[in-house]
Amino acid sequence: MKRSASLAVGLLAAPTLVVSLVAPPATAVAPPKGGPGKQPVAEGYGGAVATVDHDASRAALEVLRKGGNAVDAAVTAAAVLGVTEPYSTGLAGGGFLLYYDARRGKVHTIDGRETAPRRMTATSFQENGAPIPFDEAVTSGLSVGVPGTVATWDLALRRFGTISLRRALEPAIEVATKGFVVDRTFHDQTAQNAERFAAFTSTARLFLPGGRPPRVGSVFRNPDLARTYRELGKHGPRWLYEGRLGEEIVATVKRPPVAPGTTRRVRPGLLERSDLRAYRAVERPPTRVSYRGMDVYGMAPPSSGGSTVGEALNILEALGTVGLHEYLEASRLAFADRNAYVGDPGHVRVPLRELLSDEFAKERACLVGERAMAHPAPAGVPDGDYDPCPGAPSPAPKGVPEQAEGPETTNLVVADRWGNVVAYTSTIEQTGGSGIVVPGRGFLLNNELTDFTFGPAEGDPNLPGPGKRPRSSMAPTIVVAGGRPVLAVGSPGGATIITTVLQILVGRFDLGMTLPDALAAPRASQRNTAQTQAEQGFIDAHGPALTALGHEFATTPEIGAATAVEFLGHGRVRAVAEPARRGGGSALVERP
Ligand code: GLU
Repeated sequence: MKRSASLAVGLLAAPTLVVSLVAPPATAVAPPKGGPGKQPVAEGYGGAVATVDHDASRAALEVLRKGGNAVDAAVTAAAVLGVTEPYSTGLAGGGFLLYYDARRGKVHTIDGRETAPRRMTATSFQENGAPIPFDEAVTSGLSVGVPGTVATWDLALRRFGTISLRRALEPAIEVATKGFVVDRTFHDQTAQNAERFAAFTSTARLFLPGGRPPRVGSVFRNPDLARTYRELGKHGPRWLYEGRLGEEIVATVKRPPVAPGTTRRVRPGLLERSDLRAYRAVERPPTRVSYRGMDVYGMAPPSSGGSTVGEALNILEALGTVGLHEYLEASRLAFADRNAYVGDPGHVRVPLRELLSDEFAKERACLVGERAMAHPAPAGVPDGDYDPCPGAPSPAPKGVPEQAEGPETTNLVVADRWGNVVAYTSTIEQTGGSGIVVPGRGFLLNNELTDFTFGPAEGDPNLPGPGKRPRSSMAPTIVVAGGRPVLAVGSPGGATIITTVLQILVGRFDLGMTLPDALAAPRASQRNTAQTQAEQGFIDAHGPALTALGHEFATTPEIGAATAVEFLGHGRVRAVAEPARRGGGSALVERP
């Protein structure tokens, strides 16, 4: 949603990085929002990309044009997003990457989720047997997990890419050096965070120049981040996981640079250098369900994205007829199971196979009637012993009401001319993460560990633990049919990510929408809560009919900011971003 003051082109062809030292005038008149050519839908041939940000999309397209593959372009775009969307994502965050390898017809996934330090326990977010105030966890060292993003980029490029990390960072270095023009979204996100950003000397220095959020239309540069990326390119991921940058991260987490006179309580974190050394991005088998004859691949635990989208699709298929009522009910049931059973599979037993089995879905689908279910829907019992219609289920065995999750994060999708596809969701958790910038380094630390259940909550699969990954909702998704990719999609939005992805799939495959219409359509998110969160447009269009069936709605301004790509046959491809949400995204194709 932000754009560069001057576009980086041709950098990738250069053997070494040449960065212009001539800064654009600070008073530069802002070009039209998004810069020339920013559009939410693009159609054509060759590679395709959709992100929330025009700079990131352009950088990815440039990689594709120069013969790079989807993974090269995805990592390049993600690094640019770390510059232009620094409150949503960055090198000190985490995420999940899905990759469809066209030659082998195989979907791979990389789990780059942050991990809890080894000193973290089930009660680390409690005090005197009660959860600490959520706000105190949000802006703290305590919530900073071991960053997974750099390890993800490195693993993705080594396993599936063709360019080096150093090369993938070049366009981002150029955008960070030359700057981008501040738009309304960036300004407002800064303003919303101004109080807590001011609490840290390093953060205030970077994001509150002169004590205020940068003006809309001004040029924002981040030379510290440019330097950090350059060093990272030079020394590689070890600089973070075993070296100097890691030392600085640990020091910052243990002693956040609290500004003099700050009244808010800032809890230090538990991170040690040994935690960084122990970190690995992990390749995991994807989740897979079949839906309407297609294979829908998603992210396995510790994300609940693949299991929850997959279970809901199975329930919908068991129901046969699919409308918005069924969409809400399937989502409600799948969330009941997600909350009860999904956590880090390295620490809890997640009955993933059963959650994604057709038989379990049939049992769950039995609970869907003509009217909205009583709240809350109990979790099912995914034990392999199913009754097609068991009558009233027993109460939920475990699980607690879900905690609030931040609305930020970002998703990008890329396809290359060979038909390889990436869907990559990355985040630093809340808008502005922990609020803590590592001094002189130009990036914010994540606060991903707030995704744990704080407890006390007996038996909850998502309580914190040493080295554990908090449950995520990120749901990068790739749909394949007959050995060919059909579409890829993902979104930000905390737990609403799951419903956004599900609603887009239902819109596209069941409700007869085009993919651009499915992304633009007003959204509703039912997550086993009494009221369904919905955008006003959804309530206007469908509220009366659904309320008559017993659904209740609470308005929310905006749900998600999806990006997607779809294959139209005969080599034609369509990239799709949001037309309006979060200021609109940027879709591009290699040969329009
Ligand atoms: N931390 C969230 C998750 O993993 C993503 C951040 C957000 O979108 O709020 O589910």
